[in-house]
Amino acid sequence: MKIFKTSKSQQNYSLNLRKKGQTLAFVPTMGYLHAGHLSLIKLAKKKADCVMVSIFVNPTQFNNSQDFKKYPLDIKRDLQLLKKLKVDAVFLPTAADMYPQDFQTSVEVSELTKPLCGQSRPGHFAGVTTVVLKLFQIVQPHIAIFGKKDYQQFRVIQQMTKDLCLPIQIIGAPLVREKDGLAMSSRNVRLSSQHRQKAVSLYQGLSKAKALTQKSSQPSLNQIRKTLLDSIPQDKNIVLDYVECLDAQTLLPLKKYKKHKTLLAVAVYFGKIRLIDNMII
Ligand code: AMP
Repeated sequence: MKIFKTSKSQQNYSLNLRKKGQTLAFVPTMGYLHAGHLSLIKLAKKKADCVMVSIFVNPTQFNNSQDFKKYPLDIKRDLQLLKKLKVDAVFLPTAADMYPQDFQTSVEVSELTKPLCGQSRPGHFAGVTTVVLKLFQIVQPHIAIFGKKDYQQFRVIQQMTKDLCLPIQIIGAPLVREKDGLAMSSRNVRLSSQHRQKAVSLYQGLSKAKALTQKSSQPSLNQIRKTLLDSIPQDKNIVLDYVECLDAQTLLPLKKYKKHKTLLAVAVYFGKIRLIDNMII
């Protein structure tokens, strides 16, 4: 497994593979890998000759400096996991390499970034799209895989790729959950044991809301939202950020429930840890 720490060395490697006619699939991550990340890599292996993974905790997408400082990191363990999966190359850039002092370019997707996390985390998606576009230029993939755990991010990257005619196929991979249903996330290790137990309420609420759409052919959007809201524990340290029902394609508000085309998305603070989850219902 190759490890590259500079953009130039990663880009040269990728361009060489492309010259040899190899297809490249890319999985960008912020590390502290779990089974959700690994499922993306396994999918990538089925889709292309070579798989590249990046690990970069991108400072520009954090709107909260404590969240950035406390983001979990264990590169040694991550590299062992990636080696086991026989990943071809890992790109581990430094912030100084990605953002030299004279760096001054940004790319933004205007509409899909307005609701949900775009509203509660100002600047977050501009950080994401700018770093992903830069990673695409460095890694030169034919295919890139994003998890639907971050559903809005997946849609934003799809839109950027379409708008800018990038010759890259964007694939959305299914959300992977813990046994009890909690969406896997690198941030889960930062939950207190009490909050870890209560965090499963997001999945339970989403599942109940989904069951409602299976029982009634036209449930109201309010009923759907309320079903999820009622599942979130009442606790002064558990604070709702949003519960929204939106069109899964445009992320615009819906007038009424659309079967299998409604995104039900939730974000909740458990203490200082903000968790997100979603289901297409
Ligand atoms: P992150 O390291 O959190 O930036 O995530 C890197 C990639 O893994 C993104 O495309 C995420 O959507 C994806 N991912 C993270 N958690 C999960 C999960 N539980 N299931 C599926 N994909 C995930």
